Amino acid sequence: AILLEMKDIHKTYPNGTKANRGVDLTVHEGEIHALVGENGAGKSTLMKILFGLEAPTSGSILYKGQPLRFQGPKDAIKQGMGMVHQHFMLVPSLTVSENIVLGEEPVKGLFSLVRDRTKEFSEIEKLIETFKLKVDPRATVETISVGQKQRVEIIKVLYRGARLIILDEPTAVLTPQETDELFESIQMLVRQGYTIIFITHKLREVMEISNRVTVLKAGKTITTMLTKDTNPEE
Ligand code: ADP
Ligand code: ADP
Repeated sequence: AILLEMKDIHKTYPNGTKANRGVDLTVHEGEIHALVGENGAGKSTLMKILFGLEAPTSGSILYKGQPLRFQGPKDAIKQGMGMVHQHFMLVPSLTVSENIVLGEEPVKGLFSLVRDRTKEFSEIEKLIETFKLKVDPRATVETISVGQKQRVEIIKVLYRGARLIILDEPTAVLTPQETDELFESIQMLVRQGYTIIFITHKLREVMEISNRVTVLKAGKTITTMLTKDTNPEE
């Protein structure tokens, strides 16, 4: 089934830059969809539009068969979308679990940490185990590696109920071993019905992990193709 259908998206920024000039993106449920294109091709702009961070100049978006009318990123989260950035918005002096329950309101959250978090923390441990997102939930964020910080971000969007997860150049900061581990976690996610949009420059990764790829060039979709059937093992 089609989960997301972005059609003929145009975006002209106030300074006149035409970042999207006719982008089509169709994402099917339960697939790993690679979004590729060189720097400036319009990938981030498209994802900002999807998340309600920018308004499209024109175009249509269907999500779960319904027209998408976002007010902002909070609505995107409510709709089951999660974005994992390269920039980690984590509080270094708090633990992994504390960072995850804090969500987006660290100041308010710091006070509520006084509450007993046992139930939430055990839920987080379950997510870590299920998706092999190896990280110590009790470690403080200032002591963990970049790769582990990324996993914390993934756990955070899972914890908030995301079903469509957008990974923005997730391997850029990872070692080869961390990349393998990330791919294993992604495979676990799709096996359980999650859908992934994976922004990447690396053709090897497209071939290794994606089911479908959409290529953007100068703000336009130039091709979209199936690279692998979903769930090839079944
Ligand atoms: P990508 O993610 O593929 O690198 P972007 O969507 O970031 O592409 O950028 C597409 C084009 O839009 C680029 O020329 C970029 O400089 C421009 N751009 C991005 N954000 C803005 C903005 N806020 N205002 C003006 N131009 C922008
Ligand atoms: P490592 O511990 O693996 O050396 P760093 O601490 O150098 O990783 O972090 C890499 C990048 O992430 C840096 O650009 C840093 O500014 C940013 N970063 C690290 N921790 C945080 C944080 N808690 N909040 C915001 N940005 C962070």
